[in-house]
Amino acid sequence: MLNLVDVGPRSLESYRGIAPEGLIEALRAAAAPLQGARVLHVNATPYGGGVSELLRSTVPLLRDLGLVAHWRIISGDEAFFRVTKAMHNGLQGATPDLMPDQQTAWLATAEANARAFEESYDFVFVHDPQPAGLLSLGGAGGARWIWRCHIDTSHPNPSIWSFLRPYLAPYDAAVFTMAEFVPAGFPISRVEIVPPAIDPLSPKNLALPRATARQVLDWIGVRTDRPLITQVSRFDPWKDPLGVIAAYRAARREVPDLQLALVGSMALDDPEGAEIYRQILDETGGDPLVHVFTNLVGVGNIEVNAFQMLSDVVVQKSIREGFGLVVSETLWKGTPVVAGRAGGIPLQMADGVGGVLVDSVDACAEAIVALLRDPERARALGAAGRERVREHFLTPRLVLNDLRLMQALLDKQPIVRPPDWDAHRDPVCGMVLEGAPVVTLVDAGRTWEFCSQRCRAAFADDPELYGRQARLGLAPA
Ligand code: UDP
Repeated sequence: MLNLVDVGPRSLESYRGIAPEGLIEALRAAAAPLQGARVLHVNATPYGGGVSELLRSTVPLLRDLGLVAHWRIISGDEAFFRVTKAMHNGLQGATPDLMPDQQTAWLATAEANARAFEESYDFVFVHDPQPAGLLSLGGAGGARWIWRCHIDTSHPNPSIWSFLRPYLAPYDAAVFTMAEFVPAGFPISRVEIVPPAIDPLSPKNLALPRATARQVLDWIGVRTDRPLITQVSRFDPWKDPLGVIAAYRAARREVPDLQLALVGSMALDDPEGAEIYRQILDETGGDPLVHVFTNLVGVGNIEVNAFQMLSDVVVQKSIREGFGLVVSETLWKGTPVVAGRAGGIPLQMADGVGGVLVDSVDACAEAIVALLRDPERARALGAAGRERVREHFLTPRLVLNDLRLMQALLDKQPIVRPPDWDAHRDPVCGMVLEGAPVVTLVDAGRTWEFCSQRCRAAFADDPELYGRQARLGLAPA
């Protein structure tokens, strides 16, 4: 048996007034024909990182909607997770190939997990590459299988990609965060584009009274009467913590009492974390204005909430990124973000809302200083970011997308879709737009909807291309 992760109850009704209007009714309608369906989500870790964050919210909501939903994790030792982290890095484009002994180790653990998977479900969502072998090695068992990819696989290391690819081929569908992430020669014909979402009611995102948030930061030694910038992320090279430190040092030349907090979680499936943590301590050791915290010393959801709420600027200087939930989490608190132009981050901050996108350490430092010097602009960017998150990136929308995919798989909906198959899909980024006010454009008698002015402008540049792709149900190039 794969280990079950315990989750608390949630009520969809409690999102009324927070999520966009109409979404709750749309969810109930989508769930009605799926009553009693057995749904499993499988990933590699019950804590640390974005996937566990998502499942802790979506699994209980599926239950509230009348489905039988479980969250289970695969098991593996440190050697296995070293291989899966190398695979993760390779799929995001890193060069080292997997050695034959690493491939053997991955396969042995994948087979052991497939043998341990005895339960029966109607739908199985497999998150990321770690558990991807479950289907080929264990059999479908009557379920529809969906591979949910959370990382940027647009330019994978070819050798790692060709190792993983055969294990993905038998899936019924795949879900990516962005159309650009679908790699060339992807073997699954049904591909959906669904960005993740944050839970506005979780302890990490609920509205903390400011005085309480101040007490929380004071308690761990962070001064709330001095300027503060923070990055919250796993200790991972793709999140560029050393670049953040360099940008902080440059910014401090202009703002001498500026504090930096690096808040990082260690995840069960990320053995690289401890090494990066040591590098950060070596780099910053002895600087009283730099604070480094981890979940291992008790800095958890409430502290992250307080940091995201009270920092003057939150930084997310990713070089490669899947989505970057931390960006939406921060914007939800109305705090501006300075972030690397990577993966799903520009999707969250489209049209310049939410903060500033940067491509270098210098640009990052400049943007931080500019926002610290102009609190009025910082506030306006944060407020606009919060509204974009409300429109597109809250949990109920994500659950709705998952329910619709399950229904489509039950109906064996054809992949070449009729022209009006999905009237509410952005034809440029591919995102399904649910119940939110959208930007529109009328072309050849049809009204197209977009998540942002940026996507609308791309469409306006080449309506023929995007219109043709949408009619065929293809992911945009
Ligand atoms: N996180 C946390 N504590 C930390 C660092 C990160 O709770 O010290 C959470 C963060 O709030 C977010 C998730 O871990 O919910 C990271 O998700 P994201 O999509 O940003 O990145 P990933 O780790 O999945 O690459």
